[in-house]
Amino acid sequence: MSWFSDLWARLRGLAPAEAVEVVDTPPMPQPAPPADEHDTQPMRKLVPAPPLDAGMVSEHFSWGEFGCKDGTPVPPELRPNVIELCRHLETIRAELGGRAMRVISGFRTPEWNVGKGVSHSQHKVAKAADIRVRGVAPQVLQATILRLIAKERIPEGGIGLYLPRPELPPSAKYPKGRPERKVGWVHYDIRGRKARWTG
Ligand SMILES: [Zn+2]
Repeated sequence: MSWFSDLWARLRGLAPAEAVEVVDTPPMPQPAPPADEHDTQPMRKLVPAPPLDAGMVSEHFSWGEFGCKDGTPVPPELRPNVIELCRHLETIRAELGGRAMRVISGFRTPEWNVGKGVSHSQHKVAKAADIRVRGVAPQVLQATILRLIAKERIPEGGIGLYLPRPELPPSAKYPKGRPERKVGWVHYDIRGRKARWTG
């Protein structure tokens, strides 16, 4: 049998991709086959790059949490802002005993921000987070942030308190009425100067 017919005989039973492996590399001693069929795929398969919103910013906060609710991930040029913000959110989280902290709103595109915040919102530059902490009242979360700023453990910035509130019918102040807010939250941003408000 010639080398060619020998090779042809070996290739016939193999898938084309595997056949290339047979030609280029001698068979290696294999460990016991894994139980999961999925693991038998050749190792040379390329691993695709993770999507922009995958992975963690810090120990407890993910890029996905900070993406705009319209599906836009945090733009690369604004990512350093999120990294710094999360460093301080981790400090706040630890101060409250490591309870789960939820980011209600992080980065917002200018289009998404319309009607949701002021036009110069720190959310548009990914320096702001609207947060809630499980089992912690918004007033307590606000007080914790104020205390950490006073101790210079996190930077000065903007703090907005948003308390739960009932629905109100249309009035002079609220011509369209005012929707109920079932849960409250606190806005914290790292604009670098003091700003306080109640929303
Ligand atoms: Zn906010």
